[in-house]
Amino acid sequence: MGFSSKILHADRRFEIEHGSVHKPIHTSVAYTYNDSRELARVFQGKQAGYSYGRQVNPTVDALQKKISLMEDGLASIGFATGMSAIGTTIFSLLRAGDHIVTSQFLFGNTNSLFQSFAAHGIKVSFVDATDVTNVEAALTAETKLVFTETIANPRTQISDLYRIGELCRQRQLLYVVDNTLTSPYLFKAKLAGASLVINSLTKYIGGHANALGGSVTETGLFEWQAFENIYDSYRVGEPGLWGLNQIKKKGLRDFGATLSAEAAHHLSIGSDTLALRMDRACDNAGKLAVFFEDHARVKKVHYPGLTGHPDYIRSREWFRYPGAILSIELEDDLDCFDFLNSLDLVICSSNLGDTRTLAIPVAHSIFYEAGADKRADMGIADSLVRFSVGIEESEDLLMDFEQALA
Ligand SMILES: *Cc1c(COP(=O)(O)O)cnc(C)c1O
Repeated sequence: MGFSSKILHADRRFEIEHGSVHKPIHTSVAYTYNDSRELARVFQGKQAGYSYGRQVNPTVDALQKKISLMEDGLASIGFATGMSAIGTTIFSLLRAGDHIVTSQFLFGNTNSLFQSFAAHGIKVSFVDATDVTNVEAALTAETKLVFTETIANPRTQISDLYRIGELCRQRQLLYVVDNTLTSPYLFKAKLAGASLVINSLTKYIGGHANALGGSVTETGLFEWQAFENIYDSYRVGEPGLWGLNQIKKKGLRDFGATLSAEAAHHLSIGSDTLALRMDRACDNAGKLAVFFEDHARVKKVHYPGLTGHPDYIRSREWFRYPGAILSIELEDDLDCFDFLNSLDLVICSSNLGDTRTLAIPVAHSIFYEAGADKRADMGIADSLVRFSVGIEESEDLLMDFEQALA
């Protein structure tokens, strides 16, 4: 079945109450069983069931199953936000002294999180992950995990995803890929060898800026038996799920970054139209990229769908479309705030993956705290404006940009 057919009918094909076509919103925090022995079996992981709302709930579980279908994974866990999906996953799988290799073009908040890991004894190296040789050169005897994103935000560099996957397979390293900017509709990180796939559900999967959420998906490719950080209590059942066992049973218990049933419902309804929205948003992004490239007041355009982009070939070969994020640098005589204030339809906002087109002056907002040196390392110019392209009619977007640049 196609991507949409599969997920539109997912809820009713799994366990469903009263013949409803959507999984209902379950708000109960606690669960009981007719036989107390059953409750014990659920707690011991010997029987499927719900124990306490911090770990999972039926509405969240239905969304988790949908995400697993989208990512072609074995199972998924939902979290309150994308950040908590990353944080809980890594905190539950690594220990002090372990080492992570990641991209220097990482999403700003993830970069900040990794600085916190470093302050707590998990070492982190930031390298240019568009070339696997940089990742390989940074590996040490302590390296346990390589973390990368598909398309970087805001400069749209594409990681050397397949070669990093091959390197991780050879060295038995956990390979965690943040698929947020591509979403499972544009890219299946499992094909590149990812062990775990992260999504911020807040962005394209939810798609409407009305709920926060995150997820981690097990692809089944990693040999958990050889991973020494899995505690004995979680080395039970199918070995492919040992990592998720520990993230769910220990990570969610310890950190409590649980996805709420109401948010899961919003995200699930949003996910029904992921493919439709992505088709339209990527088509709009492609048209806008061409428009900006030809415009005299735009100095540079960063969009992997343009032939001049250094990762153009990768975007063509690996992704269904080159995404809906693009950024531009303005000519020196054009102030980025004046430009943003002149936009009428496009909204100045930090979010991405919304149905509406959003624009943000990167250096002055989301990367302000990083400081000038770090921005220079990441190639973020003062005039850089990032767009998250939405699903408006392209003529209306082109008209708005035309008048704002004028
Ligand atoms: C937004 C984002 C996150 C964090 O997601 P939240 O749901 O906002 O916590 C993580 N990774 C990437 C690539 C993102 O764009």
